[in-house]
Amino acid sequence: MPRPQCPRRVMCSPEAEYFKPRGIPLVALETISLTLDELEAMRLADLNGFHQEKAAEAMGISRQTFGRIIESARKKVADALCNSKALRIEGGEVEMVAGRRFVCASCSHEWEVPYGTGRPTACPQCKSSQIHRALADRGHGRRHGRGWRGGACVGQKEQ
Ligand SMILES: [Zn+2]
Repeated sequence: MPRPQCPRRVMCSPEAEYFKPRGIPLVALETISLTLDELEAMRLADLNGFHQEKAAEAMGISRQTFGRIIESARKKVADALCNSKALRIEGGEVEMVAGRRFVCASCSHEWEVPYGTGRPTACPQCKSSQIHRALADRGHGRRHGRGWRGGACVGQKEQ
């Protein structure tokens, strides 16, 4: 009996869910489905240059599972690029991690910053630089499955 999949933690949510070769209507293209966990695996390993172990930890999965996901992801993307297929990004066993929340010590304004955009330097409301991470944000995210291990890896590149 197959074991139930545990959700993979992802931080990217692409705005474009389709990538296609220019000039060919979508209906005439073969479409490959790239799941969100596959995209996240490529983002961590190929874009951020994480070693597989670290990338696996960031996604809350085993290294073997990560290896399978990244292999499948690369194959799909290569197939799309080499054979002019469309890529549709969708689905997968994932849980989304929300952006980071910051709070201003001067005016108590709270706001959210998406991952990967760097730490804000000033409060957008009063321009004070007295800002810090909102406490409720620590290890925050939708929890299910095996739970959350403190988010240590998640924060490393983002703090
Ligand atoms: Zn402020």
